[in-house]
Amino acid sequence: MVSLSKESEELIREIQELKEKKKAVILAHNYQRPEIFQVADIQGDSLELSRAAAKTKAEIIVFCGVRFMAETASILSSEKKILLPEKESGCPLADYINVEQVRAMRKKYPEATIVCYVNSSADVKAESDICCTSANAVKVVNSLNGAKQVLLIPDKHLAQYVAKNTDKQMILWEGNCPAHHQLQREEVLKMKAEYPEAKFMAHPECSPEILELADCVTSTSGMLRYANSSSAKEFIVGTEEGMAYVLQTACPEKKFYSFANTMICHDMKKITLQSVKDALVKMQYLVEINEDIRKPAMNCLSRMMNIV
Ligand code: SF4
Repeated sequence: MVSLSKESEELIREIQELKEKKKAVILAHNYQRPEIFQVADIQGDSLELSRAAAKTKAEIIVFCGVRFMAETASILSSEKKILLPEKESGCPLADYINVEQVRAMRKKYPEATIVCYVNSSADVKAESDICCTSANAVKVVNSLNGAKQVLLIPDKHLAQYVAKNTDKQMILWEGNCPAHHQLQREEVLKMKAEYPEAKFMAHPECSPEILELADCVTSTSGMLRYANSSSAKEFIVGTEEGMAYVLQTACPEKKFYSFANTMICHDMKKITLQSVKDALVKMQYLVEINEDIRKPAMNCLSRMMNIV
């Protein structure tokens, strides 16, 4: 359990009151600070949270995550007020590609189907053919009957992982998530030597050299399922360090080791209890998607949801 200061306990009490008064719900991504989970109604990965946002009857949603996640929630539920507590919580991976670059790639590879990872901006989704998540990327690409070439944007490592699991020709884009990309093979080998009984779970945003050391390559929701069902008692967590806390809470009888000094998403950690309270008090920062973008972006997401 997370230990809380008096100040944090007071903020949690105030947030709970505000939430009730405004009939809001708080969604928190798995990489958030542990104290944020104390006020969250729903916790999960980006797509689980966006689906939850679409289902809830609440009119106000405070999305504790990064901008592309709040945008996805807004695409799926445009009638609701989606608040991102920190204006500057972006995603360096999503920033690797913009609309002009997608259009240029379409011209360069007119035969290719463009698959965009959910970690992309709303306008990039609007220019793409179909969306994918880390959990379903292989399934989405393999479902593209007739497509010989596939451009998967913006994560090169996810595309490399898919390339190993499909016979379609994958075109790569030079983007990466800094939190996953910077994990070094030596760090993994050191951790494995320290905990020889532990299973190593790795997120497909890690580089191929890291994935070849993994016992299981999977998304954050897949890690929860794997840890729950495995007979192993110890796990090395190859994704953002916050996930180890989520896993430890879900499986208290098992042990989880994270790369706490390397695998940190600084954008996720920008959100604090104070910024969540401010979001509810000041109704900030509203994330809205222009209808011209929302409709094609919705089509891109819907095509994926029809597959999985
Ligand atoms: S962990 Fe990486 S991909 Fe996820 S939000 Fe942070 S920078 Fe983006």
